[in-house]
Amino acid sequence: MNKQLLTEIKEQLEKERDQLMKDLGKFANKDEKAVNIDFNTTFPEYGDDEDENAGEIATYSNNLALEDKLEKELRDVLSSLKKIEKNEYGMCKYCHQEISEERLRARPTSTSCVACKKTLTQEI
Ligand SMILES: [Zn+2]
Repeated sequence: MNKQLLTEIKEQLEKERDQLMKDLGKFANKDEKAVNIDFNTTFPEYGDDEDENAGEIATYSNNLALEDKLEKELRDVLSSLKKIEKNEYGMCKYCHQEISEERLRARPTSTSCVACKKTLTQEI
């Protein structure tokens, strides 16, 4: 895989990681003791009125769903960065062939090549 592209992808992934951490930090606390990245959504405090309580619950459940989504993205980004470090980036996890540059550019966290992905999605 060409070095130039790898550098570009690494920068892109690092940027994405920082952005995701920032977004998560807005409504969740990072668990510093956790071995793997783990954020916990904080419960909002609007007040004690019924309306406010309902609002807190709505926001909390929205944020939980968002936390789930962002955390998954963050894990993918981190695992891609780890692969770059270990020189394993860009290999399909199924057939161990190189994933096309085009695909990696479009989705840097791809872990499978187009052919394997197609086979898998057709099976489902
Ligand atoms: Zn493959």
